[in-house]
Amino acid sequence: MNYIINGYKPEAMFRFFEDICSIPHGSGNEDKIACYIESFALERGLYCYRDSYNNVFIRRPATHGYEKRPAVLLQGHTDMVCEKNDDTVHDFEKDGLKLYIDGDYLRARGTTLGGDDGVAIALMLSVLDDETLISPELECLFTSGEEIGLTGADNFDYGQITARSMINLDGESEGVAWVSCAGGIHTKIRCNCDRIPLKNKTLRIRVTGLAGGHSGTDIDKNRANAIKIMSRILLNLYDFEPFNLLSITGGNKSNAIPRECEAYLSVLDPEIAIRNILLSESAIKAELSEDDASFKVHVDKARKEGGMMTYKSTANLLSLITLAPNGVLTMSPSINTLVESSANLGMISSDESEVMLAFMNRSSVESIMDYICLRFEQLAKVTRSDITHSSRYPGWTYNSNSRLQKIYSDTYRRLFGNKTPVISAVHAGLECGVIKNKIENIDIISVGPEINNIHTPDEVLNLKSFERFRLLIIEMLNQI
Ligand SMILES: [Zn+2]
Repeated sequence: MNYIINGYKPEAMFRFFEDICSIPHGSGNEDKIACYIESFALERGLYCYRDSYNNVFIRRPATHGYEKRPAVLLQGHTDMVCEKNDDTVHDFEKDGLKLYIDGDYLRARGTTLGGDDGVAIALMLSVLDDETLISPELECLFTSGEEIGLTGADNFDYGQITARSMINLDGESEGVAWVSCAGGIHTKIRCNCDRIPLKNKTLRIRVTGLAGGHSGTDIDKNRANAIKIMSRILLNLYDFEPFNLLSITGGNKSNAIPRECEAYLSVLDPEIAIRNILLSESAIKAELSEDDASFKVHVDKARKEGGMMTYKSTANLLSLITLAPNGVLTMSPSINTLVESSANLGMISSDESEVMLAFMNRSSVESIMDYICLRFEQLAKVTRSDITHSSRYPGWTYNSNSRLQKIYSDTYRRLFGNKTPVISAVHAGLECGVIKNKIENIDIISVGPEINNIHTPDEVLNLKSFERFRLLIIEMLNQI
């Protein structure tokens, strides 16, 4: 193999990284990378366990004299997000990445680099491989399917693990450690609607131009939800003069803030209704943030087949949408500016008999998540709707007594000119949340080197930062 990264230490880690980039390893396609890691362990006579999910676990015994020290678990994921530019020819099933150096940065031509989380694999292999390294017993867990719902971490047999300290290597900013993440749950509400034959004039309303975003990490950015805006416009109109709703459609994923919504309704006097709708538009526009500057409400007279909902069903549905929890629900009492829990009405659709609403709810505190579920169930009860929750995964609650946090901060300061690292949290799902809930009393921290533009073809890894990252991990291993 022709290696292109030169001059960074230790050379072996960067070689491992380039090897990994030459092996296709998109989510769901982790077989080859798991084989590569497994044969690495076998060649070195290390204990290795691989499961049917392509998770791989390797154990390295303590250095002589370190047997009494507690074992440490290092963990990262083997799958990468496969994204490429439209004009790039690349088969993620078969082709290796085409790497190139750009100053101190590494990139892949026209594709994602998989620094997320290839750096974890390369670092763990280099540590396992380093015969000069003095350390307690090391356990290294390489998980699959992180990017598609944390499936590897969720299904691993944690009976393999003895460590009660874990360093997750899936961070993406140097000098920032994550110490908490949110759990999530999908909630669907189906509201029954009685229909009668269509009469009067029909109008179509469309809400467009909103910024949208990720329902976790963007939920605190004050971006409007197109479905909620639609329900507000409709509620204003209904309050002024009742109408019959025909249909409502908006958003396409429960975990994205919806940018558009469309509704058809039957009104007694279209001209008066349009005036009322446009009044709502200008009031709402004045309230929105810069991100939503392109917000627009379009109203036109349009025909649509099928019956219309009764006044009663229309009013009931408007209550449901209006009263549904949405956006930031609580902020963390321990970490400034961290969202602790949120809800996102991501999707709405209707057919002849019902209207379906899909939510993605998140919380880093399980008891708050229980309460959010109860709130939704109560809402479903009073609006005579059906409700189902699914795919719940646990959060990772902030632990103010974490020993690892202290070791990380002290080590970071000592190594890097007394700079104080940032202790932070993420309002989205991480493998740490899953693992924290599988292993009792495990202390976890999540760190990484500088990787920018992850999940896009502009992904770039800072090689100097990767060097410092390894140094930090080695020093931490000494302190644990
Ligand atoms: Zn990752």
